[in-house]
Amino acid sequence: MLRVGLTGGIGCGKSRVAGLFASLGAPVLDADTLNRELQTPGHDLYAAIVDRFGPGILDARGHLDRGALRSRIFADPAERQALEALVHPAVEAAIEQRLAALPEETTPYAVIVVPLLFEAGWETRFDHVVVVHCEPSEQIARVTQRDGRSSAEVEAIIEAQMNPDERRLRGDSEIRNTEQTTDAELANQVAERDAVLRKQATTHRSRVENRPPNT
Ligand code: ATP
Repeated sequence: MLRVGLTGGIGCGKSRVAGLFASLGAPVLDADTLNRELQTPGHDLYAAIVDRFGPGILDARGHLDRGALRSRIFADPAERQALEALVHPAVEAAIEQRLAALPEETTPYAVIVVPLLFEAGWETRFDHVVVVHCEPSEQIARVTQRDGRSSAEVEAIIEAQMNPDERRLRGDSEIRNTEQTTDAELANQVAERDAVLRKQATTHRSRVENRPPNT
């Protein structure tokens, strides 16, 4: 099956777009959700993080205190790299495991939502990358409203992420989710992309099936 990465800046509408792909029958995996799941007690990633960062990053219940961990890595690139070196392979392995469990015959493509896809250098892992785009002012308005964060906080996150123009250039296709985009227009864009991806998957499959042996 084709592996389709779905990315975009904070609050651009990745979850919304992923939901529309799912409504058309595409399996959707979310790297952030998997990451959160793997960081709960009982998972190898949880144990590895506690081992590396010590019990100071646990809360009273023995769960990872995400705020404490965030402050540990915030000002120290070496600590951030150490965390990423644990997280990235674990999330990647979980994605592979879940993709392998999907029925190949009836799944032309799967969507994998990865917010920091280009930042992590993951683009080579996908056959196609869709970028969800909206204006930074809209990101700020949506995230302040959704999460109750301050504008300054959201601006700092946007600043720390990849420049939106660069992200758009690096993607294979774009879905616009701006103020001007109506619900119907958004659904249409997803339906159009779904049709192209299904066609691409058929071509991909017949190439693989008709490949001469030993190539
Ligand atoms: P994050 O990067 O934080 O995970 P995301 O890219 O997945 O966010 P969503 O959660 O889909 O983005 O959308 C962010 C917020 O903006 C949500 O509250 C959502 O309901 C709202 N939203 C999404 N698209 C629009 C739109 N076109 N108009 C108004 N609000 C929108």
